[in-house]
Amino acid sequence: MSKGITREILEDWLKNVRPYARDGKVADYIPALAKQNPDDLAVAICDLDGDSVSAGNEVCCFTLQSISKVLSLALALMDHGEEYVFERVGMEPSGDPFHSIYRLETHNPSRPLNPMINAGALAVTNMIHGITPDEKVGRLLSFIHEMTDDRSITYNTEVASSEYESAHLNRSLCYYMKQHGVIKGSVEETLDAYTKQCAIEVNIRQLARIGAIFANEGKDLDSGRRILPMHLARICKTFMVTCGMYDASGEFAIKVGIPAKSGVSGAVVGTVNGYGGIAVYGPALDGKGNSVVGLKLLELLSNRYDLSIF
Ligand code: GLU
Repeated sequence: MSKGITREILEDWLKNVRPYARDGKVADYIPALAKQNPDDLAVAICDLDGDSVSAGNEVCCFTLQSISKVLSLALALMDHGEEYVFERVGMEPSGDPFHSIYRLETHNPSRPLNPMINAGALAVTNMIHGITPDEKVGRLLSFIHEMTDDRSITYNTEVASSEYESAHLNRSLCYYMKQHGVIKGSVEETLDAYTKQCAIEVNIRQLARIGAIFANEGKDLDSGRRILPMHLARICKTFMVTCGMYDASGEFAIKVGIPAKSGVSGAVVGTVNGYGGIAVYGPALDGKGNSVVGLKLLELLSNRYDLSIF
């Protein structure tokens, strides 16, 4: 394993950061997420040969939430190409909370600022090829199956319907974008696909492997087969740097310096070219929606092993 990191070392790091979980709070605006246990912590590192090391609750599955935005973006880019996608969704960080509606109204021409905030991600999901929501989600799942080499990965139906029923803000973002022609077709179907996409469940090693494939410029770790074109993997990683950690992306770039994407389930995936993928799970979140334990652990790991890309 890269840099000689062992399970014992990771267990030790987890022990050190565990107390920070008390400073955060599990997301509850999606009712089903409130059931997560703030003490369920896990970390995994996967190198470019596909070898991984992990510690903590490795069997626990968690939902991808906003981490899925990176994967849906990759799929939409493969479906349509950059020109089409970026005509409809911008490339600039917003500096606003992920579910903010504010810039949609003030920013001309009502184009979401980037694909990592909810408005942009909803527009991206709307673009993915597929006639029905299940077809879109099925294609996203196949993409994830390819990356993880695990065909059993699916979405958590309870989390998906819990979000679908309570997604009033995301619904309003969609209706606003529908009014302005950014979203085509049915808003309810877009929300159905989006909430299922966010509810896709993985474990910590699978998430680290996804990070490693981005670090491997889109190639499978075992066969070297291309899963994602290199330039698209780069685009996704650039968004991780500029807007992957919500409106704390600037601070994260300075303190940690790893392209990463966070989700409100408390999961974070990081990707370091030439090194591999790092996944951290700790459901207690800070005020911006990032895992408190995840942030601390990534900062310690990055500093200790000099992983900053800058
Ligand atoms: N499904 C969540 C939402 O749209 C994802 C948010 C996140 O993880 O940042 O609210």
